[in-house]
Amino acid sequence: MTERAPSEIARETFKLLAGRKLAPTPENYIALYREIAGSPMVLPFPAEPLSQIAKALPAQNPGQQKQRALFELAVSKRDWTAVQSALVGYSGFGMPAPEAGATKVPVPSGILAPLTPEFLSQIARLIEFAMPALGTDDARFLEQAQALLSGMRHPAPDVAWVKSALANFSHRVSFAAEEQSEIKASLLHLLQLIFQNIRDLNQEDKWIRGQIETLIKSSTPPLSLRRLDDVQSLLKDVIFKQAEAKGRALEGQDQLRLLLSTFIERLSLIAESSSDFHDTIERCAKEIGAAKSIAEITPVLEATMAATHAMAEVTLKVRDELQGMRQKAVAAEQQIVQLHVELDRVSAQARHDPLTGALNRKGLDEAIEREVSNARRKKRPVCMALLDIDNFKKINDSLGHDAGDAALKHLAAVTRECLRPQDTLARYGGEEFVVLMPDTTLDPGIEAMTRLQRELSKRIFLEGEAKILITFSAGVAELATDETGMEAIKRADQAMFLAKRSGKNRVLGA
Ligand code: GH3
Ligand code: MG
Ligand code: MG
Repeated sequence: MTERAPSEIARETFKLLAGRKLAPTPENYIALYREIAGSPMVLPFPAEPLSQIAKALPAQNPGQQKQRALFELAVSKRDWTAVQSALVGYSGFGMPAPEAGATKVPVPSGILAPLTPEFLSQIARLIEFAMPALGTDDARFLEQAQALLSGMRHPAPDVAWVKSALANFSHRVSFAAEEQSEIKASLLHLLQLIFQNIRDLNQEDKWIRGQIETLIKSSTPPLSLRRLDDVQSLLKDVIFKQAEAKGRALEGQDQLRLLLSTFIERLSLIAESSSDFHDTIERCAKEIGAAKSIAEITPVLEATMAATHAMAEVTLKVRDELQGMRQKAVAAEQQIVQLHVELDRVSAQARHDPLTGALNRKGLDEAIEREVSNARRKKRPVCMALLDIDNFKKINDSLGHDAGDAALKHLAAVTRECLRPQDTLARYGGEEFVVLMPDTTLDPGIEAMTRLQRELSKRIFLEGEAKILITFSAGVAELATDETGMEAIKRADQAMFLAKRSGKNRVLGA
């Protein structure tokens, strides 16, 4: 990615300051400069005021002492999350209740001073951000939060009230957080039960079973939005295929039932006509044998001819009908061929490779489009790696195709475990895989692939008695500003080719 010259960013910053009619203060200048340069806005950590607050916090019981120490540690580490949890913890250990009749304990001077409205409003913001994660079903909890927020944002906050409201609130938060985590766990459990049920109902369909295994794995914690996105897309594939397979099975059954019933009907018709014909001919033969004159034979002959004629007619009719049925059977056969073509088309719409559960080419195309446009929009790097198993043909030749398949699954499983949740694995071809790594520049991209190589050498692939070390060669490319995702993958492919040429089992940058 080409960096813009600082002088150019500075010029644009001045223009934008004027355009937005902002006062030319250093803060405004810095904020706009960072916005144009695309570097994240980092607010300075108010370590000094926070340390003063820590010092001023009373430590009158072991709980308060511990939480105050945690608070100081969080400030020294400049860790906002730890600051929040220390504060929430601290508020759970309130001041001892004043004895009846005792005079009100004066608030030590120095506590109020650091609790500036800015600080309170920062805690208020923290609470506001955390609220959606705690659920929105409990109206009283929401009311309590609102009251606390407005109390904190009051221009002249009543610190004692805020303190006690915060203590009550944190008490409720601990329940709400526990409840949300239980809800999440039981929803996940339900989801897994559904997946297992689909798998059990589709014992004979290898494809669906494979997809469901991947689904079960993908929906096992730790979850991320990206992984849930994968679960959704996998599930769509399964639903699509299931609906299609069911439709096909029902249609086939109907056709078969119709053909069978027509066939049986015609068969009984032939049997009936031929037994009538047989009786008539037998009767006529007897009459001819008993006849004493030509005159007696004539009507018998006529009857025989009429019976033969009728029989010929029935046979003709049945023949026509059977011919019709044959045509129908041929048409049904053609329909089945058509359905198979359709099935192939449907399979092509699936986004996952059934063997490894990685994305297939179609899924990869979509993922590339998504990652590339994300990277461009956020002005962030994205890396693409292409890896090809070394000497894979040897594994197939010495241990058989099934062992080769198992080796591919092993590689995909290890890769998935080794990658970050936001990385994407796709099967590019036979024994070639592509890894998309968002927010990653070239060197960390190369490091990630090297780490995968190390992991793979630790996790020996076992096939029966055989222990097989799977190695791969890889090329890594960082997306350049002026190229498409596919062009970056081509560069990675060339680097992979060089890695093979220079002895295999290595990773090269493009
Ligand atoms: P190199 O180190 O140069 O990459 O050699 P290689 O043997 O790995 O590569 P080559 O391209 O010569 O052979 C790849 C083999 O992968 C050939 C093909 O039969 C096999 N293959 C492709 N897809 C599958 C699959 O789905 N299952 C199995 N078992 N084998 C596959
Ligand atoms: Mg290859
Ligand atoms: Mg290979």
